[in-house]
Amino acid sequence: MTKKVEYILDTPVDQLKMSDIERDMSWYFDHHQKMVLASINPQIILMSEKNRCVKSFIEHATHRFADGIGVVKMSKWTKGRIKERVAGIDVMASVLEFCAANKKSIFLYGAKPSVVAQAARNIQLDYPGVIVAGWLDGYQKKRSGEVIDMINKTHSDVLFVALGSPKQEEWLQRYMPQLNATVFQTVGGSFDVYSGTVKRAPEVFIKTNLEWLYRSVSNPKRLNRIFQVPLFVTKGLVWHLKQSKQ
Ligand code: UDP
Repeated sequence: MTKKVEYILDTPVDQLKMSDIERDMSWYFDHHQKMVLASINPQIILMSEKNRCVKSFIEHATHRFADGIGVVKMSKWTKGRIKERVAGIDVMASVLEFCAANKKSIFLYGAKPSVVAQAARNIQLDYPGVIVAGWLDGYQKKRSGEVIDMINKTHSDVLFVALGSPKQEEWLQRYMPQLNATVFQTVGGSFDVYSGTVKRAPEVFIKTNLEWLYRSVSNPKRLNRIFQVPLFVTKGLVWHLKQSKQ
């Protein structure tokens, strides 16, 4: 299993296609190793400049895929080899397909109580082979130890964490050593989509690589992300220029 890595603003991103992730999953199960799927987008890269925990999570994740067209473009401009966007929600679907085919169990952690419960029900209907072993919302006041015990007691093979960034990366970075699942994925707002609470961008936005713009404009809380784009581009190019002069 060979993976090539490149750096954007000092953050590692793997040159991965969806088929690489699908292929590697069986290997991690067969070898009882933890597989950590991390979505990398411009916001997370900017965040990891200041947040050591997020940076460390990314550095230790086994699969850092370009879940953001900004990352793909930056790779192209800096002569990298990342050719395609791999959307986190599509990776989650692919993990669920794997679980359905192999009778694996999942745990959903994060989102509002009614959202995560509905996402669990919908996943069970859409992927009948998947064992939905448990779920827990991301707003309850349980201590982390209790949350970890609850997840481990279900013996889930896969843990999806949807606490938003940087919470989900920080939480996994701190507690993964105590968690017994095999596959871990940070999934942001994916439970909102699986529950039907939020709609994914229309196909035309996905096909034209403008899903980020649709999501930013349709959710006032994400509007500031538009302004992070020029910052990411400037910082990324300056960083690359400095690196190539060394
Ligand atoms: N969330 C949570 N607990 C928190 C903050 C957020 O469970 O304390 C959930 C929120 O309900 C949503 C997800 O985390 O389901 C984050 O979604 P968002 O779209 O902000 O994440 P992104 O995809 O941008 O990382």
